[in-house]
Amino acid sequence: MSTVATTDKKLVVVLGAGVVGLSSALKILDEGYDVTIVADIFPSDPKTIKYTSHWAGAHHVSLAGDDQRQDKMDQETFLTMWEMSKPGGEAEKCFMRLPQVEYYQEERANILALKHMPDFRVLKADKLTHGSKCGVSFTTVTIDSPVYLNYLLSRFLARGGRVQRGFVQHVSQAIDGAFTPLRKPDAVVVCTGIGTRSLGGVEDKDVFPIRGQTVLLRAPWITFGRTLSSLDGLWTYIIPRRSGDVIVGGIKEENDWYPHARPEVTADILDRALRLCPELSPSYSGGSSPSATPGVDDVKSIIIEEGCGLRPARKGGIRLEAEVHLTEMGNKAPVVYNYGHGGYGYQSSWGSASLALSMLNESLKKA
Ligand SMILES: Cc1cc2nc3c(=O)[nH]c(=O)nc-3n(C[C@H](O)[C@H](O)[C@H](O)COP(=O)(O)OP(=O)(O)OC[C@H]3O[C@@H](n4cnc5c(N)ncnc54)[C@H](O)[C@@H]3O)c2cc1C
Repeated sequence: MSTVATTDKKLVVVLGAGVVGLSSALKILDEGYDVTIVADIFPSDPKTIKYTSHWAGAHHVSLAGDDQRQDKMDQETFLTMWEMSKPGGEAEKCFMRLPQVEYYQEERANILALKHMPDFRVLKADKLTHGSKCGVSFTTVTIDSPVYLNYLLSRFLARGGRVQRGFVQHVSQAIDGAFTPLRKPDAVVVCTGIGTRSLGGVEDKDVFPIRGQTVLLRAPWITFGRTLSSLDGLWTYIIPRRSGDVIVGGIKEENDWYPHARPEVTADILDRALRLCPELSPSYSGGSSPSATPGVDDVKSIIIEEGCGLRPARKGGIRLEAEVHLTEMGNKAPVVYNYGHGGYGYQSSWGSASLALSMLNESLKKA
């Protein structure tokens, strides 16, 4: 951890070191700015409820639907991740390219929403299992979240970025140079996820948690992704990682701040996951009859971890805006906001970082 040296380049402080802060910081650094990330939690820290990015699956299955801004961000991110995951590339080990099937128990008006994905197909009637009315298949990437976050941080540091650990009580502390003592920043970018609800100077009460809970299994034989969207609004998903671990989930509980995994939810997730994907069980030998479906006891030996995270949702979607802040000390700087990514922070990370960078460039031109 270090402070900023004197230089001609403009200095940008990015608040937050989750997937959104790290991706934004890298984009801004590559544009030619000096960048310092200030955060209270970093990727190499133990997992905590205060840092959502550790808990994500994560896969790239866009939920943008008819939201064109979101769709553009998600598509840009997919192309970036596809390139990063190419065989032999330096980030290859963070990703797994794999076939994905999405089953929907409800009718979908826009069944072609993901038609830009490689190998996209609408499922034929004879493939509609698990009570689904429709479904699609395509090729996508999954992201090994902890590995990827550490990769982003090391790439940022290797390119000359700086990091400073600190809890920011008010955005004016950053503008007044509290975290960069040699120089006040020319701009601040806010990527504080769920923390934005209580960050002084922003305190966005449109930000709220959608709690997710997952189980991490050791099942290297699973090499496909599968999701079931049920009529009751639940998702059941199977997300394998390159390492051989598999995340299964999930739930989405709005405004539930409970910070620990609930045992009865873990049991329900495993039960649903095994019905959707009996192949998870090491002893599964095929067949779709109820007696062939494994039970929770059959996977106990491969459970690595139970966990939960707070998706940083926001009424109105991701906040991508810029405004000028004047502090009590008389210091003025543009502040760019990039937070509120809900359940899609990975799959929109590079696209939202590009928009944040454009707003930063514009704001600094005017300043
Ligand atoms: C179970 C689960 C599954 C998910 N699956 C997927 C998926 O498959 N695909 C997908 O795209 N997304 C998925 N998500 C969503 C994704 O994880 C989030 O959208 C994303 O992690 C949000 O990242 P973030 O950087 O905004 O926030 P965070 O990761 O929470 O990072 C916030 C950063 O801000 C810092 N911070 C906050 N307040 C302050 C402060 N006052 N002072 C200093 N630092 C501060 C924190 O320390 C941290 O560094 C999932 C989430 C969950 C919980």
